[in-house]
Amino acid sequence: MAEAYCRERGEKLTPIRRKVLELLLASGRATKAYSLLDEMRQIHPGSAPPTVYRALDFLLSAGLIHRIESINAFAVCHDLTQCQHGILVVCQQCGNVTELHEPKLRQALVAQIEAAGYRLSGEGIELKGVCAQCQAAEVSAAKPAAAPPSETTHS
Ligand SMILES: [Zn+2]
Ligand SMILES: [Zn+2]
Repeated sequence: MAEAYCRERGEKLTPIRRKVLELLLASGRATKAYSLLDEMRQIHPGSAPPTVYRALDFLLSAGLIHRIESINAFAVCHDLTQCQHGILVVCQQCGNVTELHEPKLRQALVAQIEAAGYRLSGEGIELKGVCAQCQAAEVSAAKPAAAPPSETTHS
């Protein structure tokens, strides 16, 4: 799909670009550039950082991936049919990313931002969150640790 998309735009999905995209797809969540580089090195031992960064730059400019600023990582965009990215909700713990495609919500938000005299500095709108899995992990981690709370703790 990404290949067809690039072909339409007259650009090429080179093997390195494709590999980086595949790694991001396989991880299923936001991944930091250095972990991508590590994985690339396991496949192509000679991979140099600039190669990976250039591939990331290309994928970003093609709109195939997102830069997740709050955790400084990259994630695949799962919707190539939208000309604009949606609103991203990013799990700050594990890097899970969900993209909300609510054009009206986005427009309303942007209109408010512009009414306040601002313009967005990037196209990304990113919300920080904790995903369902991480919330569940928090709950199960808290349970056994919770010794009989006979007294209420005041903090
Ligand atoms: Zn997107
Ligand atoms: Zn999470």
